[in-house]
Amino acid sequence: MNPTAVVTGGSRGIGAAVCRLLAQRGYRVIINYNRSPDAARALETELISAGGQAIAVPADVSRTEDVRRLFRTAEKTFGSVDLLVNNAGISKRQVLTDATDRDYEELMSVNFGGVFRCCREVIPYMLKTHSGSIINIASVWGICGASCEALYSASKAAVIGFTKALAKELGPSGIRVNCVAPGLIDTEMNASLTEEELRAFCSECPIERPGTVQEVAAAVLFLADSASSFTTGQVLQVDGGCAI
Ligand code: NAP
Repeated sequence: MNPTAVVTGGSRGIGAAVCRLLAQRGYRVIINYNRSPDAARALETELISAGGQAIAVPADVSRTEDVRRLFRTAEKTFGSVDLLVNNAGISKRQVLTDATDRDYEELMSVNFGGVFRCCREVIPYMLKTHSGSIINIASVWGICGASCEALYSASKAAVIGFTKALAKELGPSGIRVNCVAPGLIDTEMNASLTEEELRAFCSECPIERPGTVQEVAAAVLFLADSASSFTTGQVLQVDGGCAI
């Protein structure tokens, strides 16, 4: 039977590219969305028209009940969950003195809390088959930190620490847990960057350009696939070398 993948934040950007690549490779895909129902449903239609199996499912990953419903729907629809890609994320650029308690709570609750809730929910499904793979989308900023993104960087550093700990906890149960840490990727998340900021950032990277969503999706596929069956607890940087 074809494996089932849940991709959080699958409606746009990196998540949508991951959904497309997984569907092409025969995965049955749960496209999770929060605020973009039209984009998610259009992607569902696109994947099914191309011969794949997919369903768009709403859930705010910062809400426990939504996350429970997401995984119940996944199992009811496709019978199992073999791969979880924790991709949903938000960013906020601000000097720390401008950050409110609400900014802190939102960033942590989506970027790290979402990973925590989805992992907690998926583990019982994966334990049934003593197999599975969890891939968390972190960020190079979680490794080296970004000015004016201290809270975002901290939320992604939490994802990296969590990934390593969970890999140790779940390895004996046949479940692998890894991270992909993208650098600057061309998505709506970076729409507020000026041309000048973009150029300045790229000039500091050995590969002097932003990455594409397809390049991140390819790394996710590698960590999902049996090609990486002896790899767990790792952080795969897809960043053009910017954090060497
Ligand atoms: P994006 O284009 O802004 O898309 C964000 C996605 O996350 C959307 O599908 C959105 O869904 C979803 N999302 C946001 N809040 C959610 C919530 N509470 N519950 C469920 N889904 C939610 O961003 P992106 O660039 O593709 O980023 C994807 C991931 O890569 C994020 O974790 C981000 O931190 C990470 N990343 C991005 C970059 C970059 O340069 N782009 C670099 C490093 C890491 P809706 O629209 O349906 O709400």
